Amino acid sequence: MKRVFLFVVLLAFGGLSAAFALAQEATPIPAPTLPPTPTPMPRPRPTDMLTQERATVEFFFASLSQGGSGLLRVTGDGMAGCSTRFLNAVVDCFPVPGDGYFALLAVSMEQNPRRYPLDVFVWYTDGARQTINAEVEVTSAGFIRQNIDLAPDKVYLIDPEIERTEFARLESIFSTITPERLWAGQGFQLPILGSELTSPFGAFRTFNQSFQTRHTGWDIRATLGQPIMAIGAGRVAYAGFMDIRGNMVALDHGYGIFSTYAHLSQIHVTRGQSINEGQIIGTVGNTGRTSGAHFHWEVAVNGQFVDSAQFIQMWLPGLGAASP
Ligand SMILES: [Zn+2]
Repeated sequence: MKRVFLFVVLLAFGGLSAAFALAQEATPIPAPTLPPTPTPMPRPRPTDMLTQERATVEFFFASLSQGGSGLLRVTGDGMAGCSTRFLNAVVDCFPVPGDGYFALLAVSMEQNPRRYPLDVFVWYTDGARQTINAEVEVTSAGFIRQNIDLAPDKVYLIDPEIERTEFARLESIFSTITPERLWAGQGFQLPILGSELTSPFGAFRTFNQSFQTRHTGWDIRATLGQPIMAIGAGRVAYAGFMDIRGNMVALDHGYGIFSTYAHLSQIHVTRGQSINEGQIIGTVGNTGRTSGAHFHWEVAVNGQFVDSAQFIQMWLPGLGAASP
């Protein structure tokens, strides 16, 4: 029953992205809602598999779209570790006891669609090393264009310097990688219940017909004061005020996965605090660069903003996850 429900949710998300890709202006579409506690996601079958010498790489995606993320599994007799090099990012694999090594790949929303080399470096307890060369196709995400008008009292936030400074602060938060899995269960959930995803990730935005930028998360229609929940277990990496994001919380979920929650009216957590999945971390507000009360939600993987709605649909190995 739960599996059927989840499948319907995934279909709804797929339809949602397609609808946004076609639409010129984002129109509210009823959002899928996930239960407040994580639903175990069935382990998918790998879409592709590559064996070279002692190691096998399993791909859990056929291609990655701009702003997309994907999962790999690497196994081999006597393996001691691995790392991946993709789009100039070198990222360590993470071990899952009894289930091999996994790695997350992330694609910038600005990446040109084409095939890119992927190198998987594997090392063994006996000192042997090998490199597996593969290719990953990056596809176009068909991002939409949006015009947004800010009220006169917020126009000062249309400033490339403010935006650059804020991106640099976020980059610094995302670059502190915790080599430990902090998320629990088997995946992530939506941060808010009973709301609508209104403005999509990746949109090309023009503010007040002058300043152009990109939308680095999803906007969720929400009412002032509505509780915001952690998408997964983690640790508070930031809790405070930023010019554009207003009152903001960033959670570190480990292995380079971060989530952020912006424009909050209240923050209920402090830096360094451990958070459970679904825990209320703050409330919806209208702080920062907003044209009304709403909730802005981001996920970053390997230092890149990725499509947060797509990210939470991805199966990730959970605690004690074993092959079915
Ligand atoms: Zn937003």
